[in-house]
Amino acid sequence: MTQDKIGNRNAIGIDLGGTFIKFALVAESGEVLYNSKLSIGKEASRDDILATIRKAIQLSLKQAKEKNLQVAGIGIGSPGLCCDGIVVGGADNLNGWVEVHLSEMFSSEFNLPVLLDNDANVMGLGEAVYGAAKDCTDVIFLTVGTGIGGAIVADGKLYGGYKNRGTEMGHVTIDHKGIACNCGGRGCLEAYASTVALLTQYAEASGKNVNELDGFYFVQKFKEGEDAAVKCMEDHTDYLGHAIAGFVNSFAPQKVVIGGGISEAGQFYIDLIKKYTFQYAMPDCAANTDVVAAVLGNMAGSLGAASLIFKNVTQ
Ligand SMILES: [Zn+2]
Repeated sequence: MTQDKIGNRNAIGIDLGGTFIKFALVAESGEVLYNSKLSIGKEASRDDILATIRKAIQLSLKQAKEKNLQVAGIGIGSPGLCCDGIVVGGADNLNGWVEVHLSEMFSSEFNLPVLLDNDANVMGLGEAVYGAAKDCTDVIFLTVGTGIGGAIVADGKLYGGYKNRGTEMGHVTIDHKGIACNCGGRGCLEAYASTVALLTQYAEASGKNVNELDGFYFVQKFKEGEDAAVKCMEDHTDYLGHAIAGFVNSFAPQKVVIGGGISEAGQFYIDLIKKYTFQYAMPDCAANTDVVAAVLGNMAGSLGAASLIFKNVTQ
């Protein structure tokens, strides 16, 4: 980011997902020197997952050694609530992923600093440091998929609230008497604007079977101008615009970065979200804001995880 000098260190970024561990050896300039992925079986136990992370670190260190490079540390993005180097819980698709002391475990094993944060947070940090919001200090990141996650970068740093328990961006209320949400609340953005919600709404509007629909088909029908698809896309981006306007009024970001499946469908999607965001946001708050598509794709997590090291480890 603007106020930071870019150094010439290298770090390992680990992006732990529900089915894969993606990992990379990253130079501080953002250059990816090596990257790969390892699969995690659905039945994988906590020990299996730990063994796979260990293997990812070993493979990355081997690459660094072959390239004669020093490694400044290991950054890890994990699903769930992460605080002080520990995955506290909340990673429902990883078995036994509760009270995992990742930083302590791997820093003593590899004798390197190990920093941990939530997966959506590190993706947002990746976009802020190397991607769509490069050179911005204040960024809102939203990823719209089967759920809605996000991150806040404020004054150049990830903001997570006290004990990193906040920034559940998909769970702001957009209808106070609305439909039930997975989180136990009611009327949340995620319940209305996730891709699952979108396809459910489209199935209802078009009379089609929801099990036979996917995002690609929906976008195709929207582009063909089918009434039901156009209506559902307008509603979907309107929901997002409402929530984002609230984030803009609260944080006055320079950029709102939209990631996730549909954001890759084309600029029309971002343009619609942008239209509704500016319709609802307070003009003074939105004066320096733009809404843009994420650009790092499936590298956002690894790059963001590595940047945890560059931003937080001084030596
Ligand atoms: Zn919710």
